[in-house]
Amino acid sequence: SFHQIRKTEITQRAHLGQGTRTNIYDGVLSISSAGEDEAEYFSTEQNNNSREMHVVLKVLDPSHRDIALAFFETASLMSQVAHVHLAFVHGVCVRGSENIMVEEFVEHGPLDVLLRKEKGRVSVAWKITVAKQLASALSYLEDKNLVHGNVCAKNILLARKGLEEGAVPFVKLSDPGLSFAVLSREERVDRIPWIAPECVRDVANLSPAADKWSFGTTLLEICFDADVPLKERAPSEKERFYEKRHRLPEPSCRELATLICQCLNYSPGERPSFRTILRDLTQLQPHALVDVTAVNPDFP
Ligand code: ATP
Ligand code: MG
Repeated sequence: SFHQIRKTEITQRAHLGQGTRTNIYDGVLSISSAGEDEAEYFSTEQNNNSREMHVVLKVLDPSHRDIALAFFETASLMSQVAHVHLAFVHGVCVRGSENIMVEEFVEHGPLDVLLRKEKGRVSVAWKITVAKQLASALSYLEDKNLVHGNVCAKNILLARKGLEEGAVPFVKLSDPGLSFAVLSREERVDRIPWIAPECVRDVANLSPAADKWSFGTTLLEICFDADVPLKERAPSEKERFYEKRHRLPEPSCRELATLICQCLNYSPGERPSFRTILRDLTQLQPHALVDVTAVNPDFP
């Protein structure tokens, strides 16, 4: 279940990019707190009664009913959850033959783009903070026994960059988009090395453990400033890599290497829980320093 949004409530603006069978647009969502008729009646007060929100419109490509249903399932998953590090989904709008997911606009865009732009200038402490925020969102989902299914740096959005000295980033994990249960084998292979190995073979293997593998690859991606090994390889090579149970290279960022290695385990049952991951990250984080600068601006 999700909130249904009327087509008159959304305004579509610039095209931002393409996703998995989607086109993404910048947009505005205008919700009047009064009902439609009342809003008209009180038209002089409309500014007081309506709220305008900056959103992204994810327009699903024209597709079969089962694909649209999978898209609605994602919208409904995201509508069931509320966490500071999860992007907020307002609902779905059906506009003629188009199905549109309406999600909060996260100001500074995707993490992979930022890491590429700031290559070599992002500190390890910054990366650990992002990892911790991501782990807290995934731990929340794990507690509810929910699976995200599409964790990668592209789907981590920055609400605050936090790149200045002493500042802290703030990220939100975006919706997973179309569940990979309805993706073709080719599309799943394309998601190597983010997709868990057991899910390439059989989509029925999708479980919370799958998110742990994807989390491991995403940490690796963060450590390598968005350069992921295997990413540009041919599909056959990617598949062979998983079949032969090869290991992805270790990052130079030693603080995160052990954790990544534990997540990138070919046996789903041996991957650590997000609760454990979160605890380990908290121990790594030099939060004392961050906290002190936050309360005391004169801290050297
Ligand atoms: P997938 O399901 O594969 O993630 P998608 O439909 O979510 O596909 P993306 O490739 O993740 O599409 O997103 C396309 C682009 O749209 C991103 O690179 C980013 O610039 C922008 N974008 C997506 N979501 C948001 C958001 N909530 N706020 C701001 N920009 C966004
Ligand atoms: Mg996305």
